[in-house]
Amino acid sequence: MSKVIIVTGANKGIGYNIVIELLRTTTIPLTIYLTARQPALGEKALESISALGLAERTGSVVKFHQLDIAATQSVLDLATFIRDTHGLFHILINNAGIGTPRDDTFPDQFRKCFECNYFGTSQVTDALLPLLDPHEGRIVMVSSQALPSTKITNEKLKWGLKSPTVSRDELDLLADRIVVHAQKPGSKEEFEKTGLPVHAYGLSKAFMSALTMVYASEHKNLLVNACSPGWVKTDLAPDGPGTAGACTSSSSRDSP
Ligand code: NDP
Repeated sequence: MSKVIIVTGANKGIGYNIVIELLRTTTIPLTIYLTARQPALGEKALESISALGLAERTGSVVKFHQLDIAATQSVLDLATFIRDTHGLFHILINNAGIGTPRDDTFPDQFRKCFECNYFGTSQVTDALLPLLDPHEGRIVMVSSQALPSTKITNEKLKWGLKSPTVSRDELDLLADRIVVHAQKPGSKEEFEKTGLPVHAYGLSKAFMSALTMVYASEHKNLLVNACSPGWVKTDLAPDGPGTAGACTSSSSRDSP
């Protein structure tokens, strides 16, 4: 029987190449949902992947479905569609993400990065978790080592990101507090003074990695992993030395 896989943010970059690699390397038929927040871009990506002719070998299929991970209705619509079409599915690849929006203010950088990379990823995962096959279900978080937790000096934050006993509510509360704290006047200086990282993207991804540990400990029947693809050239990381088509770069240092 075909395995059903959902890839978020797959219209370009690493997500797009994940879909190609799945088709290229699978030995069993797959039904892959290439999801994207902008339908025109998702359909275009689907067209160019279909033109590669990789699916036929195993009788796999790739389909497009709209998904904006930061928009609750869009997330619920995908969950309803998967439930009604397949009942259960097998693998969720949480790839969608944004880098620090360079032209934005410090408060907006934190708000946007956390809204997408942490809260967006968690709302997709929460909505789809009940539909993951209880015996074969997997979740892959495409995270980052841009801000290794070893570089975090603030004790409370270090505890939240590294403690094996941190709960989901505690992690959400900590993430929420960081974003609220970043909205205050003079917050950047305050962050520096108290040892809070000023790297919005890096911190939101460190929270994503911590979230992975929470899901893994709360759902022991599932295989839940976070990975860092290395520093690869995409719209998010235009200076990356690696290529998204072969995420083999091990250069995580200073990478996004
Ligand atoms: P890209 O900018 O090329 O791709 C990001 C993808 O995420 C796009 O498809 C984008 O869609 C999508 N996306 C952004 N926001 C949302 C949203 N709210 N809902 C749904 N999709 C969304 O970047 P990469 O391919 O480099 O990044 C992919 C993942 O890899 C990210 O999670 C990133 O953090 C991670 N990563 C990348 C590294 C690198 O060196 N490139 C290093 C470490 C981690 P749209 O086109 O509409 O913007």
